[in-house]
This record gives sequence, structure tokens and C-alpha cells, in this order.
Amino acid sequence: MRIGVLAAQGAFIEHEKMLRRLEAETVEVRLPEHLEGLDGLIIPGGESTTIGKVASEWGLMEPMRAFAESGCPLWGTCAGMILMAKKVGDRMPDQPLLELMDVTVRRNAFGRQVDSFEANLDVPALGDSLFHAVFIRAPLIERVGERVETLAQLEDGTVVAVRQGNLLATAFHPELTEDDRFHRYFLGLAESSP
Ligand code: GLN
Repeated sequence: MRIGVLAAQGAFIEHEKMLRRLEAETVEVRLPEHLEGLDGLIIPGGESTTIGKVASEWGLMEPMRAFAESGCPLWGTCAGMILMAKKVGDRMPDQPLLELMDVTVRRNAFGRQVDSFEANLDVPALGDSLFHAVFIRAPLIERVGERVETLAQLEDGTVVAVRQGNLLATAFHPELTEDDRFHRYFLGLAESSP
């Protein structure tokens, strides 16, 4: 498996480490041609406005959109999820988005008081044991479209992980924990993609 990680800003190295531990080959994506031959692509967490701006400057927005639209697996964590959403409630003026997933998200949704927090999530798609999730100035998913599957919710029902076919999005950061089950899940999507 050859997995690209958009290396514009944010936690791309942590994703690469986890992927390599799972014996996947990793590619730091900075040019459109880096997408060639990839089995999957990850957009990491960081600052969505910066990641979008840099990816636009690198001419990567359209190629990444085409990559996902051709059925190749794309996973966005945190800021990456914001970039994938069709609608961002508090989108910054001119903030570039891929607008691929039929969800509405709200940035920095948990407010300053609870800037960062951790929660143990029930994620049936990953098996019985709870997934320890790290949220850092996380967005939440306010609306989930009809074709979007909810993978995980907080205890109060807030949706924090979703899948729409080849598209996966998590509001939290699995690459910052030791639990590699989300990365395995994504590699599973990459294996079964055309
Ligand atoms: N708050 C950031 C944003 O709006 C996302 C934070 C993160 O990726 N950890 O882009």
C-alpha cells in the first residue's frame, strides 16, 4: 500500500509514522504528481485555513478533488475533515475547501473552555473495545447527509466520525495515540478500492 499524506502543515509526520508501523509506504504530497500511483490520501489536522491556502498555492486542490472523485480513498482528520466538508458553518472568507463530503461542520466547535479534550468512543466499525480519541480545537459535524454513515458519536450524540463510500473523516486525531485501528480501517478501504 502506498499512502500519501498532504504535507502542507500540521500533523503529517505522525500519520506517516503510524502508516509505516503498519508497513504501508508513505509519500509526502506537495505536488500534483505526488498523487500518481497512490492507494489513498490523508489530509492531516492542523489549521484548515492554512492547509487550504498552501494546497491551493501548490495547485493541489483540483487534483485532490479529482483523486477522491475517481473513487480513491481520502481521509481527513480534524482540519482535514473541514477541508472535505461540503459546508463549513463558520467558513473564513475565501477559505478553500474540497467540498466532497455531504456534511456540515463547525470549526472550533467545543469553545475555548474545552479547547482540547479526550473521550472514549464506541466505534462499532473498529470492534468492541473503545477508541481513545484526542480532540484538539476540534470541529463537530452538525449535519450528516443521507449517504453518509455515522461511525462514532460523543455521549451527547455529537457526530465525530463519518464515512461516505471512499471518504472518511474524523474530528479527532488517531495519529496522536497508540491505537492504530483507524489507520488499519483506512488501509482496508485502500486495499479494496478500484
Ligand atoms: N481548529 C482547526 C481549524 O479550524 C482544526 C484543529 C485541528 O486540526 N486540530 O482548522
